[in-house]
Amino acid sequence: MPHIATTNPATGQVLKTYEAMSTEQLDDAIERADLAFHQLRETTVDKRAQWMNAAADLLDAERDEIARIMTTEMGKTYVAAQAEVTKCGTAARFYADKAPAFLADEPADAPAVKATRAFVRYQPIGVVLAVMPWNFPLWQVMRFAAPALMAGNTGLLKHASNVPQTALLLEDVFRRAGFPEGAFTTVLVGSDAVDHILSDPRVRAATLTGSEPAGRSIAQIAGRELKKTVLELGGSDPFVVMPSADVDRAAEVATTARCQNNGQSCIAAKRFIVHTDVFDAFAEKFAANMAALRVGDPMDPNTDVGPLASERGRDEVHAQVRDAVDNGATVLCGGEPPTGDGWFYPPTVVTDLTPQMRMWSEEVFGPVAGLFRVSSYEEAIEVANGTSFGLGSNAWTRDPAEQERFATDLDAGNVFVNGMTTSYPELPFGGVKNSGYGRELSALGMREFCNTKTVWVGEGAASAGAGAHAE
Ligand code: NAP
Repeated sequence: MPHIATTNPATGQVLKTYEAMSTEQLDDAIERADLAFHQLRETTVDKRAQWMNAAADLLDAERDEIARIMTTEMGKTYVAAQAEVTKCGTAARFYADKAPAFLADEPADAPAVKATRAFVRYQPIGVVLAVMPWNFPLWQVMRFAAPALMAGNTGLLKHASNVPQTALLLEDVFRRAGFPEGAFTTVLVGSDAVDHILSDPRVRAATLTGSEPAGRSIAQIAGRELKKTVLELGGSDPFVVMPSADVDRAAEVATTARCQNNGQSCIAAKRFIVHTDVFDAFAEKFAANMAALRVGDPMDPNTDVGPLASERGRDEVHAQVRDAVDNGATVLCGGEPPTGDGWFYPPTVVTDLTPQMRMWSEEVFGPVAGLFRVSSYEEAIEVANGTSFGLGSNAWTRDPAEQERFATDLDAGNVFVNGMTTSYPELPFGGVKNSGYGRELSALGMREFCNTKTVWVGEGAASAGAGAHAE
């Protein structure tokens, strides 16, 4: 039986448990999502925008209560949770505003294809399964749901088992905003139910944000069922600092980039690759900044770093640090979890890493930084690209030629120069290599779950041009 429950990571207390849905209840939810799809696809994009804007208004109005639930379920600071709710409202409004343009017919070169008219039309495909992680429990879902619903698809959310309240409240927000019953449904099931859902012919595609093993599992099922997937998986993002960089600023941003969300972000910078000319200066400042962060009660506005989301997650992070230390690495700060209640871990910097250590190549999902010394641009690129991941990447340099080289040479889904990786509704988001495939956000994210339909019209057609339609 899956354990679907709210457990406060700051105390370890189980606050609320839920029964998993039966197979009959699950099938009923799929049926309602499918019926809602037939209803939603007949609505205008303007109507859907009205509902999406209403959802944004509800998120804004109920921000503090939603944030409190998120903090209680997975331990992010209340301040960060409030910001996440606000960001979700912004994304909802972005898609409400942009959907008509993103879904508009795209004219093609008709004479070149011997047509009187030729164009591309974007149409919804049906019920999409979203398997989501707990680390940004609202944002991860919203960045799928806003474009999917605006395109006319319906969503079935299988959220992580430790954030059921956040999952249910989002369903409630969309319903109250006016979306038809079944347009967005939370199914309270464990990951063992994913095969059943994705095998159902009414479910047309799946998106997963989560770990590599979960990605492999869903891709296998989807392969068998010939269904489209978008996979947003793990990352071990490099943060390269070159001699021309503003080292003070880099060390400041590095601290946030590593410890935001208590260190549990796929796009957190995790490996700090620093040129030997500035290594000592950076290491000293970075370790001091990390050590100065306040770890504690996530509801306290003065707290920088709250607990990790689960005991298992905290133990795993510590095992990775121990493995490095036992094999000769040096700890510059942190490295020992405190005693007492809650799954806290101190901001930690580890250096003198070697390829044999787990931290060299694995993702560390907590506030722990690996610090690497390199002596050239080429070596920096080799270390930066030297893992199986390719999600985000950061490069710090004031040399314009070097900025261009990093933009090309870093093998990742994004490159942020002189800043930290973050997601914006306006920019595509996703990875390469074992960080997954497909893109979320921007127009691309909306079109991942559209039928990109070619329309070719020969002689005898009406003369109206493409460009007016937006489903
Ligand atoms: P996870 O264990 O993979 O869980 C994510 C979701 O997948 C949960 O809903 C989980 O359900 C489900 N799941 C787990 N194993 C599954 C399987 N074999 N088949 C089907 N579904 C399965 O990941 P997590 O520990 O919650 O999240 C951390 C990971 O997510 C990190 O690797 C992080 O980098 C990655 N992440 C990536 C992005 C991105 O955009 N690329 C963003 C955020 C996080 P249960 O909870 O019921 O097990």
